[in-house]
Amino acid sequence: MPFKDKERQKEYHKQYRLKNKDKLKENIKEYQLKNKDKLKENREKNKDKLKEYQLKNKDKLKEYHKQYHLKNKDKATKYYKEYNKEYNKTEKRIKLNKISNWKTYGLIDSDNDNYEKTYQRYIDTTNCDLCNIELTDGTNITAKHMEHDHKTGLFRNIVCPKCNNKIKVIETPCKSNTGIKNIYYNKRSKLYKYDKTTNGVKVHKTFKELHHSICYSIVQDLITDLS
Ligand SMILES: [Zn+2]
Repeated sequence: MPFKDKERQKEYHKQYRLKNKDKLKENIKEYQLKNKDKLKENREKNKDKLKEYQLKNKDKLKEYHKQYHLKNKDKATKYYKEYNKEYNKTEKRIKLNKISNWKTYGLIDSDNDNYEKTYQRYIDTTNCDLCNIELTDGTNITAKHMEHDHKTGLFRNIVCPKCNNKIKVIETPCKSNTGIKNIYYNKRSKLYKYDKTTNGVKVHKTFKELHHSICYSIVQDLITDLS
């Protein structure tokens, strides 16, 4: 039955659509699936026309999108927040994040296959390559570390933090002016200074004689190794 009043007709259709939202959605989906090829063909056919229309109405469309975005800002923010939350939990995202981190640290993949094999090795590794202690994910004291050559960036081993530190100490060139690790000579005070930070704890001591500072240094290293 046709409506005399256009507004009433509009309202009726609106209510109908709201009431049958799911059913209509399902119908559209079904139609799209059934006519997949035909729709694709049509899209291809109208590609140029659409491009032409978009070019002609560039400003109008820009304004429309702007208004739409403003109107649905909160909805979109909420949607993307939820979407990202779920996406960040996926294996794909975890992998991408990990590889991205490695790249930031300057880790270079020796296989040149965009870190595929290295990532698989990272996943499969359960124990430190050097001391065999059981490793875990995360940032605790048994976390996996990607040990690499700091000069070339080339990846070498997956190790525990303790082994990683040991290698770092061996490879870091001695900056001390005495040529002895952790021992510095102060020309003004004419004193030898022992200076070392282990696990955030600073040890600082001065000596008149070089050999006293060396003895102290050896004892300190022994204590660190035992703890
Ligand atoms: Zn280790």
